[in-house]
Amino acid sequence: MRKPIIAGNWKLNNTITESRELSTQLVTGLKNTEDREIIIAPIYTALSAVAEVIKDSPVQLAAQNCYPETKGAFTGEISPEFLQDAGCQYVILGHSERRQLMGETDHFINQKLFKVLETRLKPILCIGETLQERENGQMLEVLSAQIKGGLANLTAAEMATVVIAYEPVWAIGTGKTASADQAEEAHAFIRRLLQDLFNPQVADQTRILYGGSVKPNNVDELMTQADIDGALVGGASLNAEDFIRIVQFEPLS
Ligand code: PEP
Repeated sequence: MRKPIIAGNWKLNNTITESRELSTQLVTGLKNTEDREIIIAPIYTALSAVAEVIKDSPVQLAAQNCYPETKGAFTGEISPEFLQDAGCQYVILGHSERRQLMGETDHFINQKLFKVLETRLKPILCIGETLQERENGQMLEVLSAQIKGGLANLTAAEMATVVIAYEPVWAIGTGKTASADQAEEAHAFIRRLLQDLFNPQVADQTRILYGGSVKPNNVDELMTQADIDGALVGGASLNAEDFIRIVQFEPLS
């Protein structure tokens, strides 16, 4: 059984005070969530404050990125070790905004992933095709390259804590969600690929989240799909009521 994950990516939003307020609302509003994992990813400067708010709650902390070095002359960067020190359990890697705006490559993301695995942090590796790639019929090729590049040289044992997030770029922040069938097609493809690259057990155990305009009104249908194990939520995670409803998804019968 794969335990579902609902993760909120706050991106570049919320002051420390606002982050404390939002995480307090979540801690207060989220009840009976033992059968699912809940993660929030605030900005770096709010990590410690949020860690304090959520410390006795089921809510876990993630960072939105990291650098593949422990410490040293890397001005402006942050290492997995220091994120762990700030209270994080997870780190998001290779978000499409970082790929597109900062030019992050699969190779660089793979280096980060290896560095993260030296700590107790668990990586959430984001992949996804652009609208143009989808329209050109390159979706599977792109997903395959991102998976092979991002997970290059990992062993099956090292895959134990890796989470994958399929986030079609055309659905992020646009209000256009992939249909449940479109998302399931990509997720099933990714799972088959994990079977080919590693083994059936890795394919069966790896959690694959969907991301791209997940909202209270579409989460239940998405979570009904066999290969969708959770959601990475951007915009709707900034509103406590919406995020709580997404966490409380109920697969349709
Ligand atoms: C994201 O930032 O990972 C994301 C999926 O954003 P949104 O939910 O706003 O589309």
